[in-house]
Amino acid sequence: MTTTASDQDFAAYDLFIDGQSTPSATGRTTERHSPSDGRLVGRYAHADAHDVDRAVTAARRAFDDTDWPTLAAPKRAALLRRVADLLRARTNDIGRRISLELGKPITHARTEVTLTAEVFDYYAALALDQRGELVSQHTPNALGLVVKEPVGVVAMITPWNFPLLLLSWKVAPALAAGCTMVAKPASATPGAALDLALVLRDAGTPDGVYNVVTGSGGEAGTALVEHPGVDKIAFTGSTEVGQSVMAAAAGTVKKVSLELGGKSPNIVFADADLEQAVRGAYWGIFLNSGQACQAGSRLLVQRDIHDDFVAALAQLTRTSRIGDPLDEKTLIGPLVDGKQLDIVLGYIQQGIDHGAHLVAGGKRLGGTFANGFFVEPTIFDHVGTEASISREEIFGPVLSVTAFDTVDDAVRLANDSQYGLAAAVWSRNIDVALHTAKRIRAGTVWVNAYHDAGLPFVMPMGGYKRSGIGRELGREGLEQYYETKSVHVRLGRP
Ligand code: NAP
Repeated sequence: MTTTASDQDFAAYDLFIDGQSTPSATGRTTERHSPSDGRLVGRYAHADAHDVDRAVTAARRAFDDTDWPTLAAPKRAALLRRVADLLRARTNDIGRRISLELGKPITHARTEVTLTAEVFDYYAALALDQRGELVSQHTPNALGLVVKEPVGVVAMITPWNFPLLLLSWKVAPALAAGCTMVAKPASATPGAALDLALVLRDAGTPDGVYNVVTGSGGEAGTALVEHPGVDKIAFTGSTEVGQSVMAAAAGTVKKVSLELGGKSPNIVFADADLEQAVRGAYWGIFLNSGQACQAGSRLLVQRDIHDDFVAALAQLTRTSRIGDPLDEKTLIGPLVDGKQLDIVLGYIQQGIDHGAHLVAGGKRLGGTFANGFFVEPTIFDHVGTEASISREEIFGPVLSVTAFDTVDDAVRLANDSQYGLAAAVWSRNIDVALHTAKRIRAGTVWVNAYHDAGLPFVMPMGGYKRSGIGRELGREGLEQYYETKSVHVRLGRP
């Protein structure tokens, strides 16, 4: 499937359908250029509706005509564990592909692969312990069996910012449940989904269980969402596209789960461990150059410490190790493409025009970085709540800071958003921290941490409000891939 050209970092990929690499029906391809220096890094088959139909037909057949959906749990778990092991063995090359396509720093890209392996291990364990319910005491002459069954063929549409990890949050539980699937990765970063296809095949996944169509959202994505052979859509991406996916799915009443955008508040109380909170605020927004759905893009700081806190954060930000994503020392890479660059620079200009106080960054990097889409980590202070930079998802390295006085102020500001994906609270007072956490309308709240408090996959994740529908990860993440069947049994007299 992968061919190497003169440049060892170039790869060409076909579609992956029914266990085989296959060109698109039209032979059309698209190319990907590195966001850090513009060189060609990939060429991918460009699927149309006909290719999508081939992929859905393969997935349908694997679900309807093989014993995959009823495979014994120990075999399913063993397969998932083999996937995890193979991913770990391929950490370097899959990580490098992610870094080349996305511009993610290589060390972070490798971590994405090893975290993905942990997701497969986690769902291997859950696959072994699935059970329904028995209703035995309602009446003496009847038994109720509540049975879980795989939902069927799942269309998985994913964004570019964590191209392997976010896909695994769908693939691993779907395999654990016994579903079959067609993945449509983002056009910017299709390589990881195709690399995963080989890993799954090598682990022994039967043909047709996992298929990949690469192509545009407007063409392949739409065809997948509308296809009558698809039972469920698991979508991760922007709220706008999520809305259109949901509307299109209504035509055939597909099940839909949506992981969408965010504008997440990060609340620092005056009694917090300030050193930790400064680092938390920094990585909360600047991880992956701010291209993270849960990015802590609204920093709310209690007024007593506001000035010192912002000064310390700005100081840390000025020392950011920005550079070539393939350099082991780089911690911040470029944005994904020119479109994202324009969006981010546009918001920075809006922040300036709105009168917010620019305390760090604000510019595109030139010089040796001129061929890439690098933007300085940027902090705006004294940002009004009506400013677009404090209301809209930027999906870039731009932080808005606002001061608050009381717990009530912090909660009001935090909840003043159409989104409800994530939040964090920093305080040494556990009562303040937990009361605040309880009042925030968001699917994830960290206390004295951002992005990671050491509980990565066991906790469900998803959005309130316009940040989504349904949950991924944890046990709830597996529930998304089941239908529930009630079997009512009338007992005769012995
Ligand atoms: P996007 O533009 O919404 O695209 C997401 C996926 O949908 C891509 O594969 C895209 O294909 C496809 N798509 C586009 N139009 C479509 C259509 N009409 N029908 C079906 N599929 C379509 O989002 P993105 O720019 O890739 O990612 C950034 C967004 O994702 C942000 O809003 C971020 O917050 C969100 N996100 C959410 C989570 C979460 O867990 N809540 C995680 C990560 C990212 P193309 O690439 O070909 O356009």
